[in-house]
Amino acid sequence: VNWRAIGYQAPDVSALRAAARGPASEALAACRVRSLEAPPSARLAPSPAELLCDCVVVGSGPGGAVVAAELCEAGFRVALLEYGSWEAADERECSEMHAFRNLYQEAGSFFTEGRSLTILAGSAIGGGSAVNWSCCLPPTQQVREEWARDFGVEWAAGPEMADSVERARERLSMSKEGVELNAANAVLLRGCERLGYQAEVAAQQGRVPSRPDHGGWCSAGWKEGARQGMHGSALADAARTGNLLLLDGCSAQEVLRDHAGRACAVRGTLRRGGGSREVLVRGRGVVVAGGALQTPLLLRRSGLKNPHIGKHLHLHPAMTIFGRFRDPVEFVKGAPMTTVSRVVEDQDGRGYGAKIWVPNFHPITWAALLPWQGSREYKGAFAGFSHAAPLISLVRDQSEGRVRAGSDGRPRVSYTMGQTDKAHLLKAVEHSARILVAAGAQEVHSAHNGVEPLVADAAMPGGAAIGQPELEAWLGSIRDAGLPELGVALGSAHQMGTCRMGSDPASSVVKPTC
Ligand SMILES: Cc1cc2nc3c(=O)[nH]c(=O)nc-3n(C[C@H](O)[C@H](O)[C@H](O)COP(=O)(O)OP(=O)(O)OC[C@H]3O[C@@H](n4cnc5c(N)ncnc54)[C@H](O)[C@@H]3O)c2cc1C
Repeated sequence: VNWRAIGYQAPDVSALRAAARGPASEALAACRVRSLEAPPSARLAPSPAELLCDCVVVGSGPGGAVVAAELCEAGFRVALLEYGSWEAADERECSEMHAFRNLYQEAGSFFTEGRSLTILAGSAIGGGSAVNWSCCLPPTQQVREEWARDFGVEWAAGPEMADSVERARERLSMSKEGVELNAANAVLLRGCERLGYQAEVAAQQGRVPSRPDHGGWCSAGWKEGARQGMHGSALADAARTGNLLLLDGCSAQEVLRDHAGRACAVRGTLRRGGGSREVLVRGRGVVVAGGALQTPLLLRRSGLKNPHIGKHLHLHPAMTIFGRFRDPVEFVKGAPMTTVSRVVEDQDGRGYGAKIWVPNFHPITWAALLPWQGSREYKGAFAGFSHAAPLISLVRDQSEGRVRAGSDGRPRVSYTMGQTDKAHLLKAVEHSARILVAAGAQEVHSAHNGVEPLVADAAMPGGAAIGQPELEAWLGSIRDAGLPELGVALGSAHQMGTCRMGSDPASSVVKPTC
């Protein structure tokens, strides 16, 4: 009833299941260790609780999946351990609730200490790519030079890195060609065009035609056509070689080292058939690619002492505002993040600032984002769901946080956003509001508690519109409100930096040459 009231419609799950079937998913299914008594390849399992391979990879996200593919293609046998559970094509669902419960870390209810920021991170076959928005931006030359200059990662600025980016581009079939814009992305482009702000179509994964109307369910696990994440790229490539052993539902507990101190095995817990059992996976090498939140915890559990493990966490904090339009926008239909405005991405001449995008939210997330001004106002704002065009401002943060294990072994994240990042984010929010008004929004809502929405004046000549003085006054109230702790909904879908690479072990965790 609520969905109908807000004009929200679930996608056609049978079409999703049909699309998920195919050679790529069959090849991956054939690599699964269904039970330790009957692994797909007897040569890899000398005893029921022990597996042998050339390399053990922990984590099947973009990091782990690409390493697995490269190794498998080079002829090495790889055991890939992934905490997330297997979902057969015919078991796939595409609801926000199912996705949070099964495809996100901490069921999507993951916050920084103090609860000032919500963290979304995938935990599934394919890691974050199982739920991400599939937009592909290569690192800029400015960022690569910073890595080389500030961290001694010399190859980052040169042709070696450029070649790697090119290989990633090919593996993902990354392209701007044929990208279809949904109505919310059209709002972003239109508003920018009218204001003379920079905006462009952003490259997406894949040239395979997909159902454009379903692209908006990517955050709920809709992965077909052009938005297949690792399933349709690196994991499929690894599976096709016949060298991959996939241990889904397997939590890596500890990396073991040989007498020379080299990583040689991973001890894990494998969940199967309602129970679990210990498993030891031996290899000549171990790659830990469990994402920025879990990797530090595994390294610490394994006895590594480098004080930088878990520090230097960056989150790309993001804030959403939305415009309400006279005509339906239905922003959940069609892919998010197909356009980007870089108008305020460099606010200090060093490449720090924020980008403006169209996000992908469904009703549960929307409910969490809407500010509380009172029950009537909340209901009214929710009722406008299908007429809303949200814009998200995502800041390249200089603030740093930290991840460590809580007493229950789960990650605890501490992070405080500094004043410079806040100023950069607010500047992008201000530009977002201008873009929405220029594109014809009748109302603009911020995620601030206590800031009333900006509403069009019905008496404007030529029809209801938001006047310039009203916009300026409203922006003044946003600036006055600032970004107070718990006073505004902030989120992060990008976690980075907790095992950073650098040439100096006194300031970094991973060597550039490893
Ligand atoms: C909603 C959302 C939208 C996003 N949109 C985009 C986008 O459009 N474009 C973009 O470039 N990026 C996007 N991102 C970010 C991107 O998905 C991540 O940066 C990327 O997935 C990180 O890759 P990773 O391999 O380092 O880690 P992850 O993708 O986090 O993968 C790590 C995997 O390791 C597993 N793991 C961790 N610890 C263990 C353990 N001990 N044992 C076994 N398994 C373990 C986890 O379950 C997880 O599946 C988005 C992220 C989210 C959440």
